[in-house]
Amino acid sequence: MSILISDFESITGLPEFVGYVFIFIFGAAVGSFLNVVIHRIPNEESIVFPNSACPNCKESIKPYDNIPILSWLFLRGKCRNCENPISARYAAVELLTALLFLLTYWQIGFNAFLPVCLIFVSATVALIFIDAENMILPNVITYPLLVFALLARLIFPLFFGWSFFSDLQVFPLTYLQDYPVWLVSLAGAILGGLVGGGSLWLVGEIWKRLRGVDAMGLGDVKMMFAVGALLGWRLTLLSIFLGAFSGAVIGVFLIARQKEKDMQTQIPFGIFLGIGSIVALLFGEPIIHWYLSMFN
Ligand SMILES: [Zn+2]
Repeated sequence: MSILISDFESITGLPEFVGYVFIFIFGAAVGSFLNVVIHRIPNEESIVFPNSACPNCKESIKPYDNIPILSWLFLRGKCRNCENPISARYAAVELLTALLFLLTYWQIGFNAFLPVCLIFVSATVALIFIDAENMILPNVITYPLLVFALLARLIFPLFFGWSFFSDLQVFPLTYLQDYPVWLVSLAGAILGGLVGGGSLWLVGEIWKRLRGVDAMGLGDVKMMFAVGALLGWRLTLLSIFLGAFSGAVIGVFLIARQKEKDMQTQIPFGIFLGIGSIVALLFGEPIIHWYLSMFN
């Protein structure tokens, strides 16, 4: 992604730090919503209705007890009604989302592409936590994420030309430079999707032939197809590399700790692909430049 200069101050007339405070609070509120998504989507419940309730006593949570991060700290991680402990994970998701929003704003800047990145980060955080808990990457998130990626790929070039999508002016899309930019952008999305989803599908298929086990879920394939459509093939390869690398490190650690050595350890790969995708979105270009500079 090309990074435009952040100009919060001249657009709003407010000091720069106000933007950071606002994006942090906004991120915490989105994190609160992601908690609902993470808990209800795997059970196929509505994410709008009913209001949040205590998992133990079912008492609905009052608005003043539903302030992201702060309420959990204030109530010392207990339900006000029944005093049953409330998982620290709720506050952790809110804090993580707030910090990721801050990081995204800092890295992408105050521009039209920021909402796209924030939506991408939010969806990925939801996928990471759902995969960690349920070992699934639900279609109700991956499919809309793909549609969203394709729309962004189509609409942004119409308004901003060759900006924002860094893959448009590198191989192999350089062969399409005479075509309209939105068409090149969509071609880049499809190429990115095939590189992301296709490579995972291929690895899974080869593994199935060799070992007879389904190692790669289709959820991972769909997720990386959507990621690839937005990020383009270079950042998507980087996402998979970062995901595989961090997954392998954690996997070795888990297997070493395991008592029964012959047991197959299932690792929700979506977690690591998700982490890799967010890192690639925010820091992919500097990482690629650094990597390529080692050969020049
Ligand atoms: Zn309760």
